[in-house]
Amino acid sequence: MLNLYDTASSQVRPLKQRVPGRLSIYLCGPTVYGPPHIGHGRATLVYDILRRYLEWSGIKVRLVSNVTDIDDQIINRANREQRPWQEITHKCESVWFDAMGRLGVQRPTDVPHATEYVEQMVEMIGALTANGSAYATSDGVYLSVQSVPDYGALAHQSLDEMLAGGGDRAVLGAEEKRHPADFALWKFSKPGEPSWPSPWGEGRPGWHSECVVMSLELLGEGFDLHCGGADLRFPHHENERAQAVALGKTFAQHWMHNGFVVDAEGEKMARSLGNVTNLLDLLDRYDARAYRMLLLQTHYRSPVRVGKDNLDASVNALAGIDAFASRTSGLVADADAATLDEFRAAMNDDLNTPVAMGVLFDAVRRANIAVDAGDVAVAAGVASAVREMCVAVGLQIRVNDEIAPEARAKAAALDAARAVKDFAKADALRLELQALGYLVETTKSGTTLRPGAGNL
Ligand SMILES: [Zn+2]
Repeated sequence: MLNLYDTASSQVRPLKQRVPGRLSIYLCGPTVYGPPHIGHGRATLVYDILRRYLEWSGIKVRLVSNVTDIDDQIINRANREQRPWQEITHKCESVWFDAMGRLGVQRPTDVPHATEYVEQMVEMIGALTANGSAYATSDGVYLSVQSVPDYGALAHQSLDEMLAGGGDRAVLGAEEKRHPADFALWKFSKPGEPSWPSPWGEGRPGWHSECVVMSLELLGEGFDLHCGGADLRFPHHENERAQAVALGKTFAQHWMHNGFVVDAEGEKMARSLGNVTNLLDLLDRYDARAYRMLLLQTHYRSPVRVGKDNLDASVNALAGIDAFASRTSGLVADADAATLDEFRAAMNDDLNTPVAMGVLFDAVRRANIAVDAGDVAVAAGVASAVREMCVAVGLQIRVNDEIAPEARAKAAALDAARAVKDFAKADALRLELQALGYLVETTKSGTTLRPGAGNL
């Protein structure tokens, strides 16, 4: 059973399944108006690791992750560049999924687009105005946060405490708001802007209304887990939740938030800070698996610094695993159960991937020692466990199983030498093959080579 920190209750508790054997997850997806940055990469990788681990554990996962394809930033960019807004959203969405594919992130089971659900959003806002939780102003329709008794449950702050911090007064029409924390469910459009009809006037939905409608529509009330980056906790997730509460609906049962990507000084990394901020740059400069490896070696709630030094270290760690996998690719056995138990215990403890990676690296070390000692039975079981663990966290191993023609010729000569009992020559050829990096196994039926054992 996976125990996971829940932001709402501030404690690590079992991640319960509404339907046994299945998990319903909603992850806030991208607003498609620019290239993905490093922080986006972290969020998708963290939840890809979670999803793969759950699936590896035998749980059927439905992961819904939206695309916000209507938003002020999209409209601003379209205006600035004098282009149709749909051209921007289509292009950015394809760049997004291309980058996620390179990161090895599985496509969500469902990718709803905000613009496909506007009718349902209008309907929901209608229900909120009908029950008195929402009201219209001159620039849109707002949710009254005072109508939500436990507003602040995710922020762990009361409305009074939030007031002391100042509300969003910069919003047009804010003077008509009943409370500074009230937020827009519907925004009236200006001439020439994309718009949809509503009983209150032409306009577009607010971001917070998109996710609550799409999550409830696709996953239903009381879905298992809602997740996203720590920056979404407040106000975005708080406001999603507030609408569900105001509708009298049960929302997510568990809330998971991943930590920030920070620069060398520990500051949250803005687009302009640090040396690698654009995810596409990172993917062009490094083995795409390196970022996943770096995140696996960091707890998902901790801040992570993404720099040349720790990406290089990840590349080295991957090279060690690849070489090991190549060396042991022919060793097949049931995975060593004790190793997998240790791995599961770490993962089930709030997805403690740094400890789980420790189990993996230790297993690589033990299996290498066993291979060196000729203890094939032990090596095979542990090697299988390593392969299993890599699958569970989405690490793709690259096995080098090519045998050079030169090595094939030497192996044939070795067999010929043995056939005429020229053991001195056979031994010399064996040493030459080992020097070329091959594991040499000689049986009555001939010589078998396994590549990649070179520097282990
Ligand atoms: Zn959202």
